[in-house]
Amino acid sequence: MTLTAASASPVLQGGDSEPFEKKMLLTYKFRLKDKHAAELNRQARAVNFVWNYCNETQQKAARAHRKWLTAFDLQKLTNGAAGELNIHAHTIQRVCVEYDKARKTHKKAWLRWRGRKSLGWVPFNTGHVSFDGAAFKFRGVRYSTMHMRDLASGVKIGAGSFNQDARGHWFLNVPVEVECATSAPASSVGIDLGLHTLATLSTGEKIEAPRLYRASEEKLGTAQRARKTPQRVRNIHAKVANRRRDFLHKASAKIAKEFGLIVIGDVSPSKIAKTNMAKSVLDAGWSDFKRFLSYKSIRNGGRTLEVSERFSSQVCSACGAMPPSRPKGIADLGKRAWRCDDCGTDHCRDTNAARNIRRVGLDTLRLGAAP
Ligand SMILES: [Zn+2]
Repeated sequence: MTLTAASASPVLQGGDSEPFEKKMLLTYKFRLKDKHAAELNRQARAVNFVWNYCNETQQKAARAHRKWLTAFDLQKLTNGAAGELNIHAHTIQRVCVEYDKARKTHKKAWLRWRGRKSLGWVPFNTGHVSFDGAAFKFRGVRYSTMHMRDLASGVKIGAGSFNQDARGHWFLNVPVEVECATSAPASSVGIDLGLHTLATLSTGEKIEAPRLYRASEEKLGTAQRARKTPQRVRNIHAKVANRRRDFLHKASAKIAKEFGLIVIGDVSPSKIAKTNMAKSVLDAGWSDFKRFLSYKSIRNGGRTLEVSERFSSQVCSACGAMPPSRPKGIADLGKRAWRCDDCGTDHCRDTNAARNIRRVGLDTLRLGAAP
């Protein structure tokens, strides 16, 4: 099973209230064909060699109480090794920079060695990978992918990397500049994030996480409890993550295309308390979904807004009352439908919450726009 989710993390310019930039930087992730594995494994070993050389040099310096090495020092020391290692000179430079950065981030005198167990990694610099409309080219080699996305031939590609996942598959992570639409539909939608229904829209539409993805999450739980080998658990993890991302990409793309304003509720802890699923699993799904919605809507000329979902399930979205018949707190989490005592409207709990979330979002924007 090789569902490839083209995951993307946006680098957005400008704050919430600033006008939209016409371009945004997205990191596309492509699963590469397995025939490239041998060459990439070879380059990854060379990268590890450079990394370990940096580490060893730094370790010696630290132990001898000599001046610690900067990225610049490391680059000078590794200069000229590219030919012998048969990798790109800039790959070596990037390794030195990343080594220095990692050492500073972790505030360590030296770092862990990169070895057989490290996931393969081959960084490259801006302009070194190109795209001809069908495949990517790096150091004269054409890399073909399992899936293609809407990418223009000759697109500007920034500094990125080839990365291996826990299953040994290789991916290409390329930051590309994409155009954003300048206007979006005037429509708006509220979204209530949930446990069994991933999301309920204020339109009444429900987005259910596919059975496949939920089943593999359960399998993951079983494997972890049964203390299966780390490799087996890692495999399931990777599959779950891929399926989840693929599903979330599609679901969020559809919403971002349809609505110019997307209002999402933050998720209250009481919701999570009511489930036996791992919190981390839920969190991962929700945060990916929010992230995807956010950059996809910007790309489509729209925007997203996150608002507090406090009281969103208790207020009647038709009349604004908080009638005695409303679902209250954790005790009433199982109450899926209710009727408002005040106006007599029948509510689906989640749709009502989504409608309130949408209203809070619209109110926030109105208040924000007031002088
Ligand atoms: Zn009512």
